[in-house]
Amino acid sequence: MSVGTELDQVVSELRQAERFLLTTHENPDGDALGSLLGMHWVLEQLGKDSVMYMSPDEFPLSHEYRHMTFEGLLGAPPDDVDDRTVVFLDCGNIDRMPVAFLQREGVHILNVDHHHDNTRFGTVNLVVAEASCTAEIVFGLATELGAEITPRIADALYVGLVTDTGRFMYENTTPAAHRMAADLIDAGVDAHGVYRRLFEDLPFSRLELLTRALQGVARYEDGSITMAMLTRADYEQTGAFETDSEGVVDHLRAVEGTKVAVLVRELLADDRRGRRKVSLRATDGKVDVSLIARNLGGGGHRQAAGFTTELTPDQLVTVLRELVAAQLSAA
Ligand code: 5GP
Ligand code: MN
Repeated sequence: MSVGTELDQVVSELRQAERFLLTTHENPDGDALGSLLGMHWVLEQLGKDSVMYMSPDEFPLSHEYRHMTFEGLLGAPPDDVDDRTVVFLDCGNIDRMPVAFLQREGVHILNVDHHHDNTRFGTVNLVVAEASCTAEIVFGLATELGAEITPRIADALYVGLVTDTGRFMYENTTPAAHRMAADLIDAGVDAHGVYRRLFEDLPFSRLELLTRALQGVARYEDGSITMAMLTRADYEQTGAFETDSEGVVDHLRAVEGTKVAVLVRELLADDRRGRRKVSLRATDGKVDVSLIARNLGGGGHRQAAGFTTELTPDQLVTVLRELVAAQLSAA
């Protein structure tokens, strides 16, 4: 099915159905949260019964999203879940929402996303890889549905746009992304206020965690790979939260000669002991980090991808060196 047909189908289902359950991927980022809230408010405005679901384990959210409130958010399936149209936002793979009630056979899913490697797990799949963020697709849907972009909807979508484009710096920053920004500012977004909320007023423990990460930076393959690791001890000794590592990898990406920046962090939850989350960032078109992430059980975008692994740090270094070197020699 072409994107056009899928767009029509999603719009018509959003118009016709009455009850919805909206959700997104685990460890939600700004695009996940902004798309979720924006879509929810659009549906409410159209008189629909919409509920949002996220696992209680996601809270507290990463510090930058502390001002976002999710009124009526569910942490468990509602009794009438089987009668609801489920809308997944910004989730490339259903395994990124590891919750049994959403992974059953027969759930009617509208899969709205912009990851090019989306596994198309939905009943209808509106996957727009050219969209800078899922919020951009939601913005398009809202317009199609004739919804008014109220200041709070604009605010939520702007958070998705700003975070997924790296403040309008990444390669996905298209003219459409800038036009959407202008439209949202017209609709009432206080751009400077959003920037302050997202990127400033940070807890000092974040700076301490960053310091620890930077102290241990290692470079491989003539500097093509710039890599840092954070351990359980780093979190314990700084008092930082798991989500406080957000943004560390961008410092690594910025270093001269880097083709791939890597942040490896130990996962802290008891049931994830021995597992590590790896964030990958590419600097130019030479390496597709989503390929590397998929190879190791994850996914993402060409320029930003990730995976979770049981490999030890030494094993990780070895396999990442091999995979990056293979792509560089093929380029
Ligand atoms: P981050 O490194 O910021 O957690 O994630 C960067 C990108 O990689 C995001 O677009 C995210 O969707 C994707 N990503 C991160 N971790 C995973 C994962 O475990 N599985 C998949 N499929 N994608 C991931
Ligand atoms: Mn996104």
